[in-house]
Amino acid sequence: MPEMPEVETIRRELDEKVKGGEITKVEVRSAKPLKNATVEEFINVVEGATIEDVKRRGKILIINLSSGYSLLIHLKLTGRLLYEAASAPMEKHTHVIFSLDEHQLRFWDQRQFGYIKVFKTEDLPNASEVKELGPEAMGDDFTLEAFQKLLQTRKRSPMKPLLMDQNFIAGVGNVYADEALYYAGVQPTRIVSSLSPEEIAKIYEGIRRILPAALEHQGSSVDLYVDIYGRQGEYMPYLKAYGREGEPCERCGTPIRRITLRGRGAHFCPKCQK
Ligand SMILES: [Zn+2]
Repeated sequence: MPEMPEVETIRRELDEKVKGGEITKVEVRSAKPLKNATVEEFINVVEGATIEDVKRRGKILIINLSSGYSLLIHLKLTGRLLYEAASAPMEKHTHVIFSLDEHQLRFWDQRQFGYIKVFKTEDLPNASEVKELGPEAMGDDFTLEAFQKLLQTRKRSPMKPLLMDQNFIAGVGNVYADEALYYAGVQPTRIVSSLSPEEIAKIYEGIRRILPAALEHQGSSVDLYVDIYGRQGEYMPYLKAYGREGEPCERCGTPIRRITLRGRGAHFCPKCQK
């Protein structure tokens, strides 16, 4: 699932390409991604509107429209927003098409867990997906002290699922949680109350270093992620733990192990992560 580096890559590209553009036409080929509006309601608030701003909160994209409404887009596992020439062949799994002059923004999703919701822009802060989110992982208010305080509220949780919990911290998911814990030398199963202050500081440092580094490389292409031009992220070669099961750890040579933790894979070095 796209995490902060991938969703922010898309946000920046949309900001450059479609901000200020008018959505002249909307075509809904499958209503499944529209979770809180009928096709008719959706078309009513989107068609003819200008894209005023493209924002991001955690893994969620927010597109502010001149109609006073905003689109809240979650790509989930396999969702893509593709910027293509209107004449480009239509791929299977394209569900919603926003026409902007000679180009289109196409919402594509193979697994169809992704969605587009519509909110009045003024009501957006009260949407549950936004309201319940934890601090932004790269935000100014997410300091080491804030992280320490947050951890005090979740003392019995294992570390990896906690890092992935968007209501705890927003923007970190499966890939970068593995990487931050590898960086810190902490196993994904470690319970919060067992962590030393030094380990907590290292996890924090891992999050704050790895996310911007991944963003600089347009993220990692796992679960079919591509940017709006269909390009893969280039951070994969830099991943130390995620997806490296059986490969030697860069620090100590021990094969990276994969376990299942609360239904999700977790990758770590069994020797240098304690
Ligand atoms: Zn190791």
